[in-house]
Amino acid sequence: MRGLTHFITTWMLIILFVAIVFMIYQEANQPETVYVGEEATEASELHPVVEKAKNDLIDQASEIDIDVIITDDVRSKERQDELYARGRSKEGTIITHAQGGESYHNYGLAIDYAIKDNNGNVIWDIHYDGNDNGESDWFEVAEIAKDIGFEWGGDWQHFKDYPHLQMTFGLSINELQKGYRPPDK
Ligand SMILES: [Zn+2]
Repeated sequence: MRGLTHFITTWMLIILFVAIVFMIYQEANQPETVYVGEEATEASELHPVVEKAKNDLIDQASEIDIDVIITDDVRSKERQDELYARGRSKEGTIITHAQGGESYHNYGLAIDYAIKDNNGNVIWDIHYDGNDNGESDWFEVAEIAKDIGFEWGGDWQHFKDYPHLQMTFGLSINELQKGYRPPDK
């Protein structure tokens, strides 16, 4: 009986130890989220990691002769509401499903791109093959962006947003609205 008690106690201690080590490991590997409070709802500039990723994207695309233009980055909630109104209360076609505060643009975590054609015109033609390699330049840019760590709006199922690239850092819009932010690096 003593042997059995000893056996169980030893195993319980081992399991407890493994669980603690596992928890510490998880904690250390989880990117720290910063709490800024619900009042600080929008960003005034791109998150530094997104800013760097944006520049990497432009550089890497230019290496394969694609001229990437960033048409939009940080957006105020007011501007987001204006864009949301298009195709709804205002004229035009629907370009976004996000109202003010519901877009990663509002938190400096998203950019929109377009490309320049060989005549220097900014275009949104997703089939254009200006570098003449048999692949759509637009999709080539999307692939580079995804390698860098962006999520691409062209991959969305219900509403394809081809110019849109975002980095969520695992944070939902709900969490961002509640005042949680990704760490600065
Ligand atoms: Zn966008």
